[in-house]
Amino acid sequence: MRLRNVPGSREVIAESKFTVTEPEKYKGKWKEVFGDDKPIRIEIGMGKGRFIMDMAELNPDINYIGIEKYSSVLVRAIQKEEERQLPNVCFIRMDAETITEVFEKGEVDRIYLNFSDPWPKDRHAKRRLPSREFLRRYDEILKKDGVVEFKTDNTDLFAFALEEVEPAGWKLDAVTHDLHNDSKMNEGNVMTEYEEKFSSKGNPICKYIISR
Ligand code: SAM
Repeated sequence: MRLRNVPGSREVIAESKFTVTEPEKYKGKWKEVFGDDKPIRIEIGMGKGRFIMDMAELNPDINYIGIEKYSSVLVRAIQKEEERQLPNVCFIRMDAETITEVFEKGEVDRIYLNFSDPWPKDRHAKRRLPSREFLRRYDEILKKDGVVEFKTDNTDLFAFALEEVEPAGWKLDAVTHDLHNDSKMNEGNVMTEYEEKFSSKGNPICKYIISR
């Protein structure tokens, strides 16, 4: 994602009722943040947040947490949530590397990774969100029968992600290299901002669903 500094974004985030500023404090207590017992699903690297807000609107019985590293991007999601006022969504500004400090074992029902940054250099492979290093972190926070869903149009990143699944102790439940022409996997698909952009250019969208 191209980053433009948005002046004042840190202040907007700190003051917004839609962001949780000290997320470690809620480890094991996320139900308290929402005030109910609904399952918690997270998107890591949510960007401007359209996917997670559309999901929250479609599924009022699920609580959603969007995680984004950069203030200048997160602030766009906050602006949209101020208009939409969805009760079952909140945001965290953090690097997902420390995600196990924020969620308790089994606290998360599902993890979405959408159009994750490719980090093309080999020496940066550990930073890729579907890498085995991240899968180990997801293993810690995801409930026993929880799944990770990953979408991208980047074929190199998708090939890498597929190779990481078994060595990390996960198994492939479903896979497609052309989501929008796969009637089964595309059923109920909610497009992300990047998905709309890249599929409109003719790029096929890859998706997997994995579990342990
Ligand atoms: N998911 C959105 C979509 O599909 O439209 C945005 C995709 S954008 C290419 C990837 C986003 O992931 C960027 O906003 C980036 O800042 C965020 N990101 C990358 N690595 C991250 C990390 N380690 N922790 C949190 N966010 C991260």
